[in-house]
Amino acid sequence: MTRRADVVVIGGGQAGLAAGYHLRRLGIDFVVLDARPAPGGAWQHTWDSLRLFSPAAYSSLPGRLMPAQEGQTCPDAAHVVAYLVDYEKRYGLPVQHGVRVDAVHDEGTLLRVGTDSGTWRARTVVSATGTWTRPFVPAVEGRREFAGRQLHTVQYKDPAAFAGQRVVVVGGGNSGAQIAADLTGHAQVTWATRRPPRYLADDIDGRVLFDTATARRRALDEGRTDTGGVAFLGDIVAVPPVRAARDAGLLAARPMFTRLTATGAQWADGSQQDVDAVIWCTGFRPALAHLAGLRLRAARGHIATDGTRATDDPRLHFLGYGDWTGPASATLIGVGRTAREAAREIRDLLA
Ligand code: FAD
Repeated sequence: MTRRADVVVIGGGQAGLAAGYHLRRLGIDFVVLDARPAPGGAWQHTWDSLRLFSPAAYSSLPGRLMPAQEGQTCPDAAHVVAYLVDYEKRYGLPVQHGVRVDAVHDEGTLLRVGTDSGTWRARTVVSATGTWTRPFVPAVEGRREFAGRQLHTVQYKDPAAFAGQRVVVVGGGNSGAQIAADLTGHAQVTWATRRPPRYLADDIDGRVLFDTATARRRALDEGRTDTGGVAFLGDIVAVPPVRAARDAGLLAARPMFTRLTATGAQWADGSQQDVDAVIWCTGFRPALAHLAGLRLRAARGHIATDGTRATDDPRLHFLGYGDWTGPASATLIGVGRTAREAAREIRDLLA
């Protein structure tokens, strides 16, 4: 069965919902297709103790403030899921859950969107599929030899599963710091990072990150000197559990091991450490396999874009993923602005 919509939004996480909000406001005909059976995007799958790096009101999508979570300054993931469930319902967004897009093809005037339950034809497509489904693990020597447990951030839920074990957490970003902090007191944790951890100042949260990312984009757009953006401030937001573990001296990092062996890790000084589990907190890549057939040009390691629009094809927009789709587009507070820009460009194109 083939259906039609002016716009097909692929992905119904926060980025897809923000797109839906603005498309609806502009009176545009659209549908959102989301592979997951329930609303909430990737937030449904994060580890239990995860806290946002901003207070609720600064983690809001367009139109509706995220309510505060009782007893928490920075809400947990379950609170975000509840907010997104409510958001989708409140605005009556036409999200079809449990529909996975396999491939988008160019059919001349239209784009054909093939799914696991039928085909859509659309005049434009917004891709908002996030990164959670593409965990990245670096090619480290001995990784296949190691007989212990290996998992990525996406598989980590809570520290109980590691009680009493020797665990190496790899990665000097927010996930690595938060998961290492989460494990302290439960497991014997070693935190391995490629360079010494760089904490943002304790009073910096998502608001500051958003403003900094916006200022950088403005400077670049206006041909001024690159301010360095968020990366200049540091890598790790000192959310309360991370700050507590760090201040208690429990978050000492050591330079990355040189290889894994059958039983553990080998360090640059030649020493060996027996290890039960390695948790790779080594990031993500954009989930874009569904666009492979369009053969879009890449620039700086990403699909080439002007704002949110694919440079090669004005019918295609990207939301979320990373700063390459707009300042802080991969955050709750940041995606609203880029979604608004995308919706306006789509309106103009459809007209
Ligand atoms: P997702 O939430 O991943 O949603 C994408 C949706 O697309 C999913 O439902 C998926 O099933 C669907 N999909 C994927 N492929 C297909 C397909 N082919 N067909 C159909 N559907 C598909 N941001 C903040 O603002 N504050 C924070 O504190 C914060 N903390 C973070 C902590 C971690 C550990 C991580 C990883 C990210 C954090 N972020 C934070 C960043 C960001 O807000 C989240 O990653 C967020 O989930 C991104 O939303 P999204 O809509 O872009 O992607």
